[in-house]
Amino acid sequence: MSKLGTPLSPTATRVMLLGSGELGKEVIIALQRLGVETIAVDRYANAPGQQVAHHAHTITMSDPAQLKALIAAEKPDLLVPEIEAIATEALEEIEAAGVARVIPTARATRLTMNREGIRCLAAETLGLPTSPYAFCESLEALQKAIDGGIGYPCVVKPVMSSSGKGQSKIDGPQDVEAAWNYAMSGGRVSHGRIIVEGFVDFDYEITLLTVRALGEDGNIKTHFCEPIGHLQEAGDYIESWQPQPMHSRALEKSKHIAKAVTDNLGGQGVFGVELFIKGEDVWFSEVSPRPHDTGLVTMISQWQSEFELHARAILGLPVDTRLRTPGASAVIYGGVEGEGIVFEGVDAAMRVPQTDLRLFGKPESYVRRRMGVALGYDDNIEGARQRARQAAACVKGRKA
Ligand code: AMP
Repeated sequence: MSKLGTPLSPTATRVMLLGSGELGKEVIIALQRLGVETIAVDRYANAPGQQVAHHAHTITMSDPAQLKALIAAEKPDLLVPEIEAIATEALEEIEAAGVARVIPTARATRLTMNREGIRCLAAETLGLPTSPYAFCESLEALQKAIDGGIGYPCVVKPVMSSSGKGQSKIDGPQDVEAAWNYAMSGGRVSHGRIIVEGFVDFDYEITLLTVRALGEDGNIKTHFCEPIGHLQEAGDYIESWQPQPMHSRALEKSKHIAKAVTDNLGGQGVFGVELFIKGEDVWFSEVSPRPHDTGLVTMISQWQSEFELHARAILGLPVDTRLRTPGASAVIYGGVEGEGIVFEGVDAAMRVPQTDLRLFGKPESYVRRRMGVALGYDDNIEGARQRARQAAACVKGRKA
């Protein structure tokens, strides 16, 4: 797209976000700054991105009829999925009919909506290193897969889940049944199917933000951000930092894997490639064909955050992935259940030098719902992490 229009006029460049949480909200803000007309869609009203978009709609995005009707009414130029639970078959139809461009591609959204599609692509089609794995639909099949080669310890995850929902580690035979039951309770659209993966005893894990953007010659060029290190608790990210120091050989392998996966998925935009690292060895874990939650840190550590990079890349504009400063992010959880909660300690958080804060504005809080993030920078990662953690710890959710 070499031209951008004027929002709310017949020339407008219209972008529809499918999913409007904290990541979508930042993409929308980046688009707004370029004068793009934005349409925020979510499953619930007053989602963070809906609060900053030109237009907001609340629908069930996994229902193809609702999704197609909304797209026909709003006529966006680009469709930008922010979540996985979308009727991807409808996106494939829309793309094939040339109604709108799907970011990065409809096929990428289909393959990554489910752990099975992307794992088979990476391990079987592309021959990339992954943990050993099997897909199972019963407790008996799970036990058989473990006994047949996956072994202990291993990790069980519903094929349709994210943020650690339904995920648990199995250390021995005594844990198998509980892990199966937990997975059955935690899947998104659980069809009773799980992936069991050999546990990778990694030294650390990274997200390698990989950007496919148009170059001056009109061809796609792949750009890498500095690796992001992160800490997960129960399958959900609690802290991230950039740059994660890495052995040069491990970084080279990581880029090779990220390039292979993103070349195959195609299209334009940011991808979050998740990798496990042990010494010089690298395993592919997952990929999001969109900005990644651990990449929230880039709002402080890069000249262009992952959200600005995504906005530019999908519009066909140039990108700059350079690091600005070592930085870190620390998640702020709701801590309480309830609607319209109040945040205390925001002033104290902002008194921590070299920090910044985002509160997402989610209408409803749960104890473990991510409601905000603290960002910190320093000339070293430890300092940045400490500042981010200190600022995050100041903010407390309270019932209204
Ligand atoms: P996922 O939802 O697949 O990204 O998993 C969430 C987190 O669980 C990862 O970031 C890892 O920290 C951990 N994890 C997932 N799979 C494995 C594995 N096979 N071995 C070790 N840790 C894992």
